[in-house]
Amino acid sequence: MSERTEISTLGEFGLIEHLTRNIELQNASSIVGVGDDGAVIDHFGKQTVISSDMLVEGVHFDLVYTPLKHLGYKCVVVNLSDIYAMNATPTQIVLNIAISNRFSLEAMDEFYEGVYAACERYGVDLVGGDTSSSQKGFIISVTAIGEVVPDQYVRRSTAKKGDLICVSGDLGGAYVGLLFLEREKKIYLENPNIQPDLESETYVIGRMLKPEARKDIIEFFEKATLVPTSMMDISDGLSSEILHISKQSGLGCVIYEEKLPIAEEMRNAAYKFQIDPTACALSGGEDYELLFTVDQNDYSKITLNKDISVIGYMTEQEQGAQIITKGGSTYPITAQGWNAFLKK
Ligand code: ADP
Ligand code: MG
Repeated sequence: MSERTEISTLGEFGLIEHLTRNIELQNASSIVGVGDDGAVIDHFGKQTVISSDMLVEGVHFDLVYTPLKHLGYKCVVVNLSDIYAMNATPTQIVLNIAISNRFSLEAMDEFYEGVYAACERYGVDLVGGDTSSSQKGFIISVTAIGEVVPDQYVRRSTAKKGDLICVSGDLGGAYVGLLFLEREKKIYLENPNIQPDLESETYVIGRMLKPEARKDIIEFFEKATLVPTSMMDISDGLSSEILHISKQSGLGCVIYEEKLPIAEEMRNAAYKFQIDPTACALSGGEDYELLFTVDQNDYSKITLNKDISVIGYMTEQEQGAQIITKGGSTYPITAQGWNAFLKK
């Protein structure tokens, strides 16, 4: 048996001190961090971008198959992804947690190990938070703060007709990973003696449990002196997100099935569930890739990055949002975005 220290033995202040004792601020913009009534941030003439997310046990994550360290990493990464999606650089996070007495000090240490691993990987400082008890379950709220060169932020609403639609990385993996995890959970609950067999699906399961934010794509834009005309991150699925960009920009769009970036591992895994890899790429959520549009004149810059796929282009609003299949048929894109509320 591993050790179990009740959080009540430390009290709230003892817990906060314990969890934040090793913080070393990395950014010049982090003027005052944990330990006062508020944090102080100075972005030295840059503009500030803020984004916040809540994660609720049983709704957004399942601790049966989510290691706490991965959860800590992921809850930071998904917030940083929103900051990158504004074409900004994340610099600080604030982390609020509510925990029931089911969680020990060791469990919180594991969770924070993941949080700090993400902070280090992405160069952000944890500068504050709040700690509360909860009746039941684990509730997490992360607020990420970033900086951007004045007026270089990129919104969803500013795509122009004729712009190329681009995505980073590959799509659908996290969704298929989730299917495997849910299946193994069911088997485990029916027979706890059976060890889960997930070894063969490390790629898609990794996409679900340990997503990364596309810091590298934002750095590429800067190097290539490229500013996308619109951008957002893909948390709910490509079809849902492209409809947001289309609607908010007052345009239509065309995407091509054959251009969708699909990893070989995802394709093979989807076949095991007898589902269509294209459907996973369109509707699967939680990949945290970037969806953005660029002016046609920037096409040559985009080709410099082999991790960016051009999947279609923006059209007039009257044409609606359409997908052209490999067989040449045209269908309207519908928002079947993965939705935390429909999951259970
Ligand atoms: P207050 O009474 O003003 O809410 P707290 O005692 O909750 O202050 O917090 C003390 C300090 O610790 C503050 O700087 C706060 O931002 C930070 N803090 C509290 N909880 C956390 C946490 N879970 N993670 C990181 N920092 C935290
Ligand atoms: Mg407090």
